[in-house]
Amino acid sequence: MDLVIRKAQLRRTDGLRDIGIKGDRIAEIAPSIAARGTREIGADGRLVTPAFVNPHMHLDKCMVRDRMRPNATFSFDEAIELTWGFKRDRTVDDIRKTAVGVAEQAVANGTTHMRVFADVDTIGGLKPVKAMLAVREAMRDVLDIQVVAFPQEATVRNPGSDALLAEAMKLGADVVGGLPWYEHCDADSQTQIDLCFDLARKYGKPIHMLVDDTSDPTKRTLEMLALKTIRAGLGHHVAASHCESITFYDPTHAARVIAQVKEAGMSIVSNAHISLTLIGIVGRPQPAPRGITRVWEFLQAGVNVASGQDDVNDPYYPFGRCDQLEVGWVMAHTAQLVFADDIETAYDLITTNAAKVMSLTDYGLEVGRRADLIVLDAPSVKEAFRLQAPRLYVIRKGRVVAETNVTRTVHRAK
Ligand SMILES: [Zn+2]
Repeated sequence: MDLVIRKAQLRRTDGLRDIGIKGDRIAEIAPSIAARGTREIGADGRLVTPAFVNPHMHLDKCMVRDRMRPNATFSFDEAIELTWGFKRDRTVDDIRKTAVGVAEQAVANGTTHMRVFADVDTIGGLKPVKAMLAVREAMRDVLDIQVVAFPQEATVRNPGSDALLAEAMKLGADVVGGLPWYEHCDADSQTQIDLCFDLARKYGKPIHMLVDDTSDPTKRTLEMLALKTIRAGLGHHVAASHCESITFYDPTHAARVIAQVKEAGMSIVSNAHISLTLIGIVGRPQPAPRGITRVWEFLQAGVNVASGQDDVNDPYYPFGRCDQLEVGWVMAHTAQLVFADDIETAYDLITTNAAKVMSLTDYGLEVGRRADLIVLDAPSVKEAFRLQAPRLYVIRKGRVVAETNVTRTVHRAK
């Protein structure tokens, strides 16, 4: 064996296991593995799980918040305007360098796969896409990146972005993005959705759209996307992020849309910390809307739901450490996933469910799968969340790609 992890606590498993890794694969999982590893890690009862997957991340905008004037209304519209000057002026090299620093943080925090959105519009042109494709290459030894060509200014609303989107796909983007709710009317939203499906078909790529990122109950782009997905038969190749309007629908309408999403076979990505802070601030009404989509109801309906970091220190969100354990912890609070099974589900949102969003067929803690694992300094998922436990070892393709050592001492008087 190249690497053996001893006495690991696995999820939903009684007793401890050794995990043997050969090359980039999990070769054996057993109560005791006789073979010695070239390298050995003693987990000593600590939790070992598949590594984190972040299915939604704007790596092209991260860390720019401190370089621009404040978002005075803390609104989506002002955030988008704030970014215009930056998009015009930033160089591919600047975007790439900043992104690499944050991507390395993600790896240190246990993420081995990330779906990265790159703005495509007539303001910044293809600079963000070129930068993110460069980051995909630069991070290849530690992180798998999928680049989404994302029309952040919408398409009908931003004439010329349709041609740029096609160009981005030609350059090698992995996913067709979309922002249909940001168009001026339903007809234009439908036009954008149709355009993105045409591109996806032409280039044989999946689709990930940001829909209904608002408390406006008249927005219906999740519904449009679900119906389009059903008719196109694209099922598991389609994901929708945010989906907040449905929370503000009447229950009958919401139930119909949830059923359509389930029938479509698409995934929902909800980033609770973003929805909590971006929805409902302008006049600060009380009680403040929680903003997130109907996570619990989607889960109950059997829809695949995942969570991502979305933003790190950009005009949309002031915080963020590219840490999926933090993302899942906030989701557990916001969606009230607090019973024992719920807490496990919250962990699924940042691991197995997120892997489904990215169509990672080689993912999971099973013999034969790629060895992308984390060793957490906690004995269980609940304790990992509670303590925001350090990721002592991050293993990707069988190689330790990050280690964390934390020493804390309390100096008592006597
Ligand atoms: Zn986003």
